[in-house]
Amino acid sequence: MSEFVQNFIDGDFIPSTAKDFFNVINPATDKLIAKTPMGGSADVELAVKKAQAAFESWKDLPVIDRVQPLFKLKALLEQNCEEISTLIVKEHGKTFKEAMGDILRGIQMVEVACGMPSMMMGEGQANIAAGIDCTTTRRPMGVFAAITPFNFPAMVPFWFWPFAVASGNTFVLKPSERVPMTQMKIFELISQCGFPKGVINMVHGGAEVVNALCDHPQIKGLSFVGSTPIAKHVYTRGGGNGKRVQALGGAKNFMVMLPDAEIDQSVKAMVDSSYGCAGERCLAGSVLIGVGEAYPKLKDQILKEVQNVVVGDGLDRKTTLGPVISAEAKARITKDITSAVAEGAELLVDGRNTTVAGYEDGYFMGPTVLDKIKPGTLMATKEIFGPVIGLMHLETLEEAIEMINSSNYANTTSLFTNNGGAARKFIANVSPSMVGVNLGVPAPMAFFSFGGSKDSFFGDIKAHGNSSIEFFTEKHTAMIRWYESGIEQAVSPMWSESN
Ligand code: NAD
Repeated sequence: MSEFVQNFIDGDFIPSTAKDFFNVINPATDKLIAKTPMGGSADVELAVKKAQAAFESWKDLPVIDRVQPLFKLKALLEQNCEEISTLIVKEHGKTFKEAMGDILRGIQMVEVACGMPSMMMGEGQANIAAGIDCTTTRRPMGVFAAITPFNFPAMVPFWFWPFAVASGNTFVLKPSERVPMTQMKIFELISQCGFPKGVINMVHGGAEVVNALCDHPQIKGLSFVGSTPIAKHVYTRGGGNGKRVQALGGAKNFMVMLPDAEIDQSVKAMVDSSYGCAGERCLAGSVLIGVGEAYPKLKDQILKEVQNVVVGDGLDRKTTLGPVISAEAKARITKDITSAVAEGAELLVDGRNTTVAGYEDGYFMGPTVLDKIKPGTLMATKEIFGPVIGLMHLETLEEAIEMINSSNYANTTSLFTNNGGAARKFIANVSPSMVGVNLGVPAPMAFFSFGGSKDSFFGDIKAHGNSSIEFFTEKHTAMIRWYESGIEQAVSPMWSESN
């Protein structure tokens, strides 16, 4: 079983040097399904060495040639998306439909990166001074690496490496040790696409591999996605070593409903947002605020919608809420619900003791609804990362905006309303940098940039879209003059070569 999960270095699957292994458990059954090798600096050293060697010729390949393997990969991913989705369900627990969404969003990243020939174009101006032309081109920088979380086993790695590689860099991916099988399958497909050896590599492991990536002198930049404490750690350690770092962290997302909102559709979107992927989503709704008269309507409709949630194994197509990732996650979320109640929250629906017939050992939690959430309490401040909704009643939109902006996190937020003026005010004044109007999961698509602010994001340049070009390339400016023999060139009055 441990032989199955291997590193991918220099175009081949090879065993890790690891002595320790992480048990990958199917969260619906509590059965061991794989063992992730917890590699170390020797694995990173080899991967970076090969990636650096590959960079020397990959960077010089015309961009139109560099994207050809990505076109092949898109086709292969589409052909294999059911198999990949099944692996996602087995190692992560989300429903099959959610898993298909996970891989679909990943494929969209590959599609957009195929546009690199125009995406990475520079800028130029002829005759910036008499007889002098100027061009700025974008150059790849070398070896980049990404460290990714468990909650989107397929999609999140695609936020980074297709853009990095298409723009001429080479890459090392470290996926989450909790979900190695999805990337094993994806790398099997990558190996069939015609990338030269060493261009894209994968090393499995945990903190030791992450720290070796942060410290390696030949790595130019790091992309991290995961919890806030580790995001801060990678930002500080990688940044301290002179690397570019973009580190996406945790979240606490508020959704606000105004009295004029379309009640049925709004609540459906909020429930999908909060319970989808068992709440293990950085864009998951967590605290739902009913403003004024919206509050009783929101509460009644949530209680109706919750009855439609079907808890079960993600492979069962009727399931709408799969298990959480681990026994520890279930214990942590259970404790948070208990603490919220101790702080005064009213438990309207209790998902703590949910079991699924035939899956008695699975890490299932039913949907939980807590009411009367107060600012400053655990439920209003902590990332729960489980299928828990907290209801809050505030009187005005301004109070709701103040509540959202009081959070240390600022990943996403949504307003449900039919009032354009209110929506405009909301968009302009909330601190989260991904904002939705009448949307439960306002995830920017591959051709836009993704990332929050405050403790949800550390760095300057966000993920995917045009931001990826800023992150993965360096601007290079050339000023060019050609003398024509015998012809005296005019000198522009605005030009000086002395400063
Ligand atoms: P995590 O922080 O535990 O792990 C993320 C990565 O860091 C993994 O690859 C893991 O191996 C590594 N890691 C773990 N502990 C480490 C340590 N001590 N030192 C160095 N590396 C370490 O996160 P997770 O549980 O896999 O994912 C859930 C978190 O990710 C949530 O907080 C969620 O909000 C966040 N997330 C954020 C976004 C976003 O876009 N902001 C997207 C997805 C997930």
